[in-house]
Amino acid sequence: AENILEVKNLKTSFYTHIGEVQAVRGVSFHVGKGEALGIVGESGSGKSVTSMSVMRLLQFPGKIKDGEIIFKGEDLKKISEKDMRAVRGNEIAMIFQDPMTSLNPVYTIGNQIIEAIMQHQDINKEDARKQAIEMLTLVGIPSPDKRIDNYPHEFSGGMRQRAMIAIALSCRPDLLIADEPTTALDVTIQAQILELMKELKDKVNTSIILITHDLGVVADVCSRIIVMYGGLVMEEGTVEEIFYDPKHPYTMGLLKSIPKVETKEKQRLVPIDGTPPDLVKPPKGCPFAARCDYAMRICTEEVPPYFEVGEGRRSMCWLLHEDAPKVEIETGAVV
Ligand code: SF4
Ligand code: MG
Repeated sequence: AENILEVKNLKTSFYTHIGEVQAVRGVSFHVGKGEALGIVGESGSGKSVTSMSVMRLLQFPGKIKDGEIIFKGEDLKKISEKDMRAVRGNEIAMIFQDPMTSLNPVYTIGNQIIEAIMQHQDINKEDARKQAIEMLTLVGIPSPDKRIDNYPHEFSGGMRQRAMIAIALSCRPDLLIADEPTTALDVTIQAQILELMKELKDKVNTSIILITHDLGVVADVCSRIIVMYGGLVMEEGTVEEIFYDPKHPYTMGLLKSIPKVETKEKQRLVPIDGTPPDLVKPPKGCPFAARCDYAMRICTEEVPPYFEVGEGRRSMCWLLHEDAPKVEIETGAVV
């Protein structure tokens, strides 16, 4: 299928007083038309910086050092800021974890949706208001005809997140980037928001990038996953491949930390020990080596290459080298 987005060898750093923080160190991936890609990793893995780079919304002192961001055939790195603003408003929409930072506190929810609708469709205010009420209904806001005149602070966290999605959808984006969109929400609302995103993908054929630290979240919405760690993609595969046949110890660690269905509202099961690598002085070898139960000598000496383990399937781990010892990797009982 045709790609809507192709990111090639993206490198983004933050130039701070303690040195260059190499947040993203050469990341490549693609998103097909109408496809939902999950980007999964712990905080500090570079997943949010990757999406902020794609949107060209990096804050000082962040800077894209290298790479290409091909969106609908055009490198977003090369277009003017004015054209980029148009892309952001019309073609790529973003939903964040904290909708309070993206909703304007001085306008009603309704006015913000109406404005978004009128920017993208040639309709009058009255019809835009009707559509805004439909959008609020679609995203599950109760009494939308009354709630439409509320201000953001009058909404609960979950309702603000729904309102954000309504606004994001109003511009009919080709690509929706959702960064931890459900993290702050309770499990029931989280499931509803994810269901909403799935519907959107199926009905409107919007491509989606869903960014999360929680592998459990992507399974229902996404068809493909990239797993990030230490500013690099550790593994890529379909949801089935990642869940049932992971090829990277870090992915296995993430799988083990997914709560089982019956314990979903309780704690994560087995968090991975240790902390992510220092990205001012990234490790010489595999970024996961310090936390990996399977680390071999070569792991601390050389960054593993990508081993192709199927079509569109890759893993950055020395265990896949033909001379590596054959270890039985425990996958944990998942799903
Ligand atoms: Fe573990 Fe080595 Fe594979 Fe890195 S390359 S994940 S340290 S086995
Ligand atoms: Mg983040």
